[in-house]
This record gives sequence, structure tokens and C-alpha cells, in this order.
Amino acid sequence: VYAALVSSTNFSFDVEDASFALFDQLRVHEKLGELERYADLDRDVYQATVEEGYKLAREVLHPINGRGDREGCTLDDDGNVTTPRGFREAWKQFCEGGWVGPRADPELGGAGLPAVIGAVLNELFSGSCVAFNMYGGLTGAAARVVLKFAAEKWQRPIAQKMFTGEWTGTMCLTEAGAGSSVGDNRAKAVPSDDPGVYLIEGEKIFITGGDNDLAENIVHLVLARTPGAPSGIKGLSLFLVPKFEFNDDLELGERNGAHVLRLEHKMGIKGSATCVLGLGSKQPCKGWLLGKEHEGIHLMFHMMNEARIGVGVQGLAMGSAAFQYARHYAKERVQGTSMKEIKNPDAKSIAIVEHPDVRRMLMEQKVIVETMRAMCYRLARDFDVAELSTREEERARLTERIDLLVPIIKAMCTDLGFEVAVTAVQIYGGYGYTGEFPVEQLVRDAKIQSIYEGTNGIQALDLMGRKLRIKGGKLFMDWMGDAQKSLETAKNEGFVAPAEAFGKAINAVAASAMHLGGLGQAGKMDAALSYAVPFMQAFGWLVLGLEAVDQAIIAKRKAEAEGDSDFLRGKRLNLDYFAANLLPRTIALAKSVQSKDESCLDPALFA
Ligand SMILES: Cc1cc2nc3c(=O)[nH]c(=O)nc-3n(C[C@H](O)[C@H](O)[C@H](O)COP(=O)(O)OP(=O)(O)OC[C@H]3O[C@@H](n4cnc5c(N)ncnc54)[C@H](O)[C@@H]3O)c2cc1C
Repeated sequence: VYAALVSSTNFSFDVEDASFALFDQLRVHEKLGELERYADLDRDVYQATVEEGYKLAREVLHPINGRGDREGCTLDDDGNVTTPRGFREAWKQFCEGGWVGPRADPELGGAGLPAVIGAVLNELFSGSCVAFNMYGGLTGAAARVVLKFAAEKWQRPIAQKMFTGEWTGTMCLTEAGAGSSVGDNRAKAVPSDDPGVYLIEGEKIFITGGDNDLAENIVHLVLARTPGAPSGIKGLSLFLVPKFEFNDDLELGERNGAHVLRLEHKMGIKGSATCVLGLGSKQPCKGWLLGKEHEGIHLMFHMMNEARIGVGVQGLAMGSAAFQYARHYAKERVQGTSMKEIKNPDAKSIAIVEHPDVRRMLMEQKVIVETMRAMCYRLARDFDVAELSTREEERARLTERIDLLVPIIKAMCTDLGFEVAVTAVQIYGGYGYTGEFPVEQLVRDAKIQSIYEGTNGIQALDLMGRKLRIKGGKLFMDWMGDAQKSLETAKNEGFVAPAEAFGKAINAVAASAMHLGGLGQAGKMDAALSYAVPFMQAFGWLVLGLEAVDQAIIAKRKAEAEGDSDFLRGKRLNLDYFAANLLPRTIALAKSVQSKDESCLDPALFA
């Protein structure tokens, strides 16, 4: 079986769909061409970059994915982590390609690419080996903080070390008593006799890349509390804590007191070292303040949108890889006969792709993945324009849109990426449950994404408690206004029935938002909070569905202009499927949000 089904064990990426989203739908080459920084980049450059990234994903990252999962990371007595075989060699190639910081300035070792192309690369690298891509993702994110907030003399040199992968980076927020509630952080930072140097004491848990054998040094960004700091998040400061101290020429010196005490044994992403990091537990641990005292959370918030979009794209990547594996498998696996031949004992066996239930599962995967892809790429493109547009109004509008949709992208894509991976196992049948095929690993690897970078429950609170209330609901109202305009276009293009169904769904979500607002005003906060996730999902399905609407319109126009194709027909079928099978989820969820049921809050339960 294994030999015959080799293509369903190889990583693949839907270049045609990604190109359609990037260039036909989102007109990335034109939009970004208007921005001075990207004026010299064109469609050919973007396509060549994606091709190159795909090659790396296929030839370098995918081959270490399964082995990394089986071997995991190991820890020696001195707190040094060894990554699985092949990770070091892959890291070298990854860094040579400038992939640690696709967006970073080429002078700093980056590739100078827009965020939207960074998102495509993230989809490729996470889809082929997410455990490996964690090291680069965290390093790039930490480098951006250093570049902005470290002492000036260090900003560019350290960021350069990180973007070139000579040094890696971590983000150290979580403690045993401070997970979602970051304000409960207890790590201490006490000024030392050495000006500007603090002594850090505490224990951070679940630290991704807390140690590794890929790079010569590690920059930990550590949240800690200075003496007399106020309690809660407002009293937190951020410190740069290196593994090895360094001088002004960044030559390495003494070992600093940040040591891995333990590695977590976990469900997935086993090639990514998840560490308990002792700070000052074996020897003094020095830290240097980033930004100003008590600004720690502000600095972290600065990076948060980008990090959350990045995790959303990881979810997309899991779904995208799972769907590709499953569609290949379904064409190759022969099992059973057509129902039409049920009474014929000599009927020819057929590939499982011909069974209607398998087709349903594949279609659900296709529609979810392709709409997630459009949503992720759109938000990443908007991120580029929001940052660089010369038009103030456009920057403000897009910044608000990103703020509103970041919790949706993070939570929907990570939940659905997992769901699509589970469906892939179902499509494979028993083989999918075995280690012989890559989909069971995807399920395990994907699960963490709904938990880290703010659990999806916390995302829902952010959407309902903060984003919906900004400027009296303006962000949501503006979104609804744009959604109505899209539906008008859809009607004019002949998609009348789906446009009407979507119109009803928008009204249902708006009514749910009003209902939750009413609960808040009536002082029934717990009742409102208990529906934060269903509300977010109702809204999230709608946001995804509008990508299906938009893509169907573009596909119709393209078919008229250039001739129809299976691919373009598939886009119009996506909309039919969405309207019939996925949009009702919005209606059902909106109904439960407005149900007034509070049974889960009854004190008789869970005592
Ligand atoms: C593999 C892995 C890698 C990680 N990498 C890092 C890293 O690099 N750096 C880092 O700092 N951390 C990292 N984390 C930690 C991760 O961010 C936390 O696990 C996450 O923030 C949740 O915290 P917790 O585990 O303490 O869960 P808790 O906060 O205890 O949450 C448990 C449950 O309660 C819910 N909950 C909690 N508070 C509320 C509330 N106020 N309202 C509603 N529901 C609530 C949550 O949604 C969740 O369902 C990693 C974790 C793992 C497993």
C-alpha cells in the first residue's frame, strides 16, 4: 500500500489556488506596487519567491517532519537541547535563503518581502514542518521587538544576528500561575550594581525554543516585575536575557543564568523544544530592559497582531497540507464499488474519491481551506498597506479592520485547521490513524494552535469585550457596510440566491451582537461571556463565506474573459457549497447566542 500511495505521503501545495487568491482576487502585485517599499517588486518576483519557498518546503522541511516527530528533542544535564536529526542542516539552508525574516530589511539579513508573501511562506513552511518553523517564527518575532525597543547601539546588530539565524529568539510570558492571565506574572527583575543590568529570578514554562543546537546564542524576551511595580499587567517590564553574554561587538562571553530545567513531553510539534526555563536558578541571570519600565505589555501588544495572524496562518497551513494529502489519497485508494452496482458481484472496484460521502468530506476541506487562505492573505496584504500607505485615511481604516478581524483569523483558522486535519484522517480510514501516513501527525501538531498565542476562548473575549466596543461598535458597523456592498456586487453578477442567504446571515450576526450588548447593559456579564465563542464562530463563518462570495465573482468574470476551467468552476461551486452547508452554521450559532439559555451557569453544576 505504501509504495502505491507515495503521492499521498508527499507534501504538496496548491500553487494555482494561492496564485488565484494573491493575484486575481487580492491584486497583491498592483496594491503593493503602489507602496514605495515594494514598488520594484512585481508578480514574477512574488511567484518566483513562492516557488523557491515551495522547493525548500518539499525538499528540505518535509523530509525532516516525520523523523522530527518520532525523535523529538533531548536535554542534557547542563540544560542543552539537541533538536532531531536533520534540523541543524535544514536550519542552515533556511537561514541562507533569508527565510527567518522574510519581511526584514535585506541589510539585516531579511528578504525585504511584504507580509502577504510572508504569509504564503509561513503556510508552506508550517505545512511541511511546523515544529521546525517554530524556531524561525519566534526568532523573527523577537528580532522585530529588539529592532524597535533595544538600546540603540544593539538594535540593528542584534536584529541582524537574529534575522540571519546566527542567534535565535524566544518569547517568555507564561509561568505556572500565569497563563491566560499574563498580569499574574511573578518573575522578578532587580537592578544590579551594574547600571542598566537587572538580575532576573523566576521560572517560565512552555517556552518554545528555550534552548536549541541550531544557533550560537539565544535572545530570550522575558516579562518580569521590577521592585515596587504595580500589580497586574501594568507593572510588567520586558527584558532581553541572552543565553551567553556578549560585548559591544557581539562577541560571546560568559554563560548567563537562563537554563532549561525540563522539556515538556507533549502531544505534537515534538521537534520544537518546549522548555521550562529557570532564570537565576543555577547562577545569576542578567537582563537588559527593553523600552521603559512597566512598558512590557505595551511592547508585547505591539507585536501581537502580527503574531496572531501568524498563528492563524499556521492553522491554514495544517488544513491546507491535510487537504492536499487527502485529495491525493482519495484518488489512489481503491475500495468498494459504486452504489449503482450494488447487486453486481463482478462490479469493478472504484477509487474512494467516487464515493459521495468522501466527496462531501473533500469538498468541505476544499471550501474551508480556500476561504481561510483568502482571508489570511487578505489580512496580511491589508497589514502591508496599513503600515505603508501614504493615505492616512486608508491606514486608519485598514488598521481598524485588522484589529477587528485578528481574533477571528487566529481562532477560526486554528480550530478549522485542526478540523480539516481530523477530516483527512477520516478520509484515509484506518491508514490515516497510523504513523505510515502524515495526517495523524498533522492532527497532533495542529491542536496546540488553538491554545497558544491567546487561547481561542481569550480571542473570543477580545472580539466581544474589546473589538466590538471600540468607537461604539464602529469597526463592526464598517465591516457590515463593506459586506453589504459585496453582496450588492454578487447580486449584480447573478449570484442572487446566495447573496440573499448571506444578507440574512449578516442580520443574524448583527442581532446577536445587539443581544450580547443588551446582556452587558443589563449587568448579565457572565451570560454574555458564555456566548463569546459561539458569537465569534457565527461571525467567523460569515467572514469566511464572504471570501467564497468574492472568489465566485472573480472566477465568473475571469471565466467570461478568458474561458472557463475546472478550477474556476470549482470556485463557483465553493459558493454553492458554502451557502448550502456552512452558512447555516452562522444562523444556528446566532440562534443559540440569542437563546437566553444560561444553563451552563447554574451553580448546581460542576460543584
Ligand atoms: C507547545 C506550547 C508552546 C508554547 N509556547 C510558548 C512560548 O513560546 N512562550 C510563552 O510565553 N508561552 C508559550 N506557551 C504557553 C501558552 O501560551 C499557554 O499555554 C496559553 O496562553 C494558555 O495558558 P494556560 O496553559 O496556563 O491555560 P489557562 O490560562 O489556565 O487556561 C485554561 C482554560 O481556561 C480558559 N480561560 C482562562 N482564563 C479565562 C478567562 N479569563 N475567560 C475565559 N476563559 C479563560 C482558557 O481559554 C483555557 O480553555 C506554549 C504552550 C504550549 C503548550
